[in-house]
Amino acid sequence: MSRLLKSLLGGVALISLAACATTTGDAGPKMMAEEEGPMIEPWGYPLDAFDPTTRPGDDFFQYANGGWLAATEIPSDRSGTGFSVIMQERNEARIAEIIADLSTSDVAAGSEGQKIRDFYNDFMDVAAIEAKGLDPIAEDVARIRAAKTHEDIARLMADPSLGLPSPIAIYVTIDSKSPSDYVMGATHSGIGMPDRSYYLRESERLDETRAAYKEHLARMLELLGEDNSAKRAAAVFDLETAIAERHWTRAERRNADLTYNRMTIAELEAMAPGMPWEAALDTLGLPSEGDIVVREKSAFPSLAALYAETPVAVWRDYLLANYISSNAAFLPDYVYQANFEFFGKALNGQEEPRDREKRGIALVNGRLDQAVGKEYIDRYFPEESKVLMTEMFEDIRSALSVRIDNLTWMTDATKVKAQEKLAAMTAKIAYPEKWQDYSELDIVSGDLFGNIKRHRVWSQAESNNRLGTKVDKREWFTAPQTVNAFYSPNRNEAFIPAGYIQSPLFDPKADAAINYGAIGSIVGHEIGHGFDDQGSKYDAQGFLQSWWTEEDRAAFDALGDKFAAQFDEYEPLPGLHVNGRQTLGENIGDLAGVLVAYHAYKEHLNGEESPVLDGFTGEQRVFLGRAQARRFKRTEESLRQRLLSAPHSPMYLRVNGMVRNIDEWYDAFDVQPGDELYLPPEERVKIW
Ligand SMILES: [Zn+2]
Repeated sequence: MSRLLKSLLGGVALISLAACATTTGDAGPKMMAEEEGPMIEPWGYPLDAFDPTTRPGDDFFQYANGGWLAATEIPSDRSGTGFSVIMQERNEARIAEIIADLSTSDVAAGSEGQKIRDFYNDFMDVAAIEAKGLDPIAEDVARIRAAKTHEDIARLMADPSLGLPSPIAIYVTIDSKSPSDYVMGATHSGIGMPDRSYYLRESERLDETRAAYKEHLARMLELLGEDNSAKRAAAVFDLETAIAERHWTRAERRNADLTYNRMTIAELEAMAPGMPWEAALDTLGLPSEGDIVVREKSAFPSLAALYAETPVAVWRDYLLANYISSNAAFLPDYVYQANFEFFGKALNGQEEPRDREKRGIALVNGRLDQAVGKEYIDRYFPEESKVLMTEMFEDIRSALSVRIDNLTWMTDATKVKAQEKLAAMTAKIAYPEKWQDYSELDIVSGDLFGNIKRHRVWSQAESNNRLGTKVDKREWFTAPQTVNAFYSPNRNEAFIPAGYIQSPLFDPKADAAINYGAIGSIVGHEIGHGFDDQGSKYDAQGFLQSWWTEEDRAAFDALGDKFAAQFDEYEPLPGLHVNGRQTLGENIGDLAGVLVAYHAYKEHLNGEESPVLDGFTGEQRVFLGRAQARRFKRTEESLRQRLLSAPHSPMYLRVNGMVRNIDEWYDAFDVQPGDELYLPPEERVKIW
């Protein structure tokens, strides 16, 4: 998940990262501890992953992963597969075990175990779901159909139980200019496809996607028995296109300065008339007075005007189509399948849906994430891994500290501030000390749809309740079993959840160089986010406030420009380049991550020579560990979606695009002029 979105949501976990796959049988660290060697033979890296016909200097990703790429097919129920899927599948098997145990043991009413069990079992009760048909949504649909005024529409959009989209979303978030406090925030939103470019960009492939989306909207209206669906869907599509036209680009939305526009609600109403702000705030359960931080300020007046000038009938259709689509997972299978046609197949290139069991696991893993996580940690996460990761984190922090001291482009005054920030950064490793409280959430057996709605209302209240309180530093905004890692600029915290501290990223029995190259480069990446083009605008305490001299900032920005220009050149799909600006933060994090991991490994050797294993030096194995940690294969549709909307570069560039800027990689693999990835020293970008 994007750091931006996470920071935007502050302490509020609104998004599930859950993903799922076929069960593989568990071979977790606790079992592994009794075995002799690493999970991946012979030293944490499989020798059949290589492509011996490719030279490392020509295409390092292919050299290190080509054997695997050739032997691997993307499963028909997925849009991609690779390192993270291995971990997700292992986690799924574990969560299935947790659920199975809960189903056969006595759990107290109101306990977290009861909530997990009943939420899951109701989702699995296909007979009950099919028998109820569309009955569970009848009342909500009637409410949407009954809307007569723009204020009615605003109240529906803001009703947390409905989960409806809106051109402007309002929430509670950490105040970037006072990071121990919460504040209301507002951002533009309200499009069904992943990014504005899906509506606006000229491209034949996207023309097809747009045609498929229009059909999807019509299909959704038909499922609700609406007539004249094609024409009405076209009006909804035009409305979403008009919303998309007003949206900022992804690159603009990353800008921490441009997206901090604090004003009073009264000022917001004056700036953007036409949106029934008070009705929306009232329905959300938020105060209609006080301050709000508006993100894409220049878009708000025209979005509010669009809101007012669009007929209520079109808004009703927009809400109806989006309502059934976003609830399709909890309705009879024909509704789910109809929705999958677009969101699974057309948008992601996924051929068939996940098994229901996997979707059920994803549901509880997403909505009751820390309740599941507590069990997960108890059963599957060895404390030893937390100790080792904590040590590695400190190794990497000190490697970056040494690098900061040695930077030639930064003056001493800014170096002192950078060191302060690095030293103040909190490492949140494996699992939280304070867990999410679910006591206010009722999960009622036999009422799947009611549970979904109660969860939405509960989640909104949890978020609203933060307003006026102090940020609790012990809180985690993600679950420990999450297969990902994060950095929060407002908290100056790096999160490395237990879900990421497992093979192939980390294995206590694997060669240290592989671990440093894999999880080490990820730790370095998260720390590096504190020093990327946007993260570097926040100080040691998480205030959005510059600590740079002007001269140093200019030098840093020039390096960022050079790096962005390098990425703008890459063309992963014909006619579709990487957006160097949209991906700059992640790319700076990656470059810093691989470098500091390498130097932390050298430090870890303590002056000793690294052993040579199967002909590979320790220095080489660090880079191989990196290549393994980004080993992934996607459908073309999924790659396109990510190029247009994701902050990360494609995986092959998260390897090749980094190593070709790193002198140490040239030395390790004897890369020479004439090799495809070769860059003359003056063209290599060195930031941290
Ligand atoms: Zn990142």
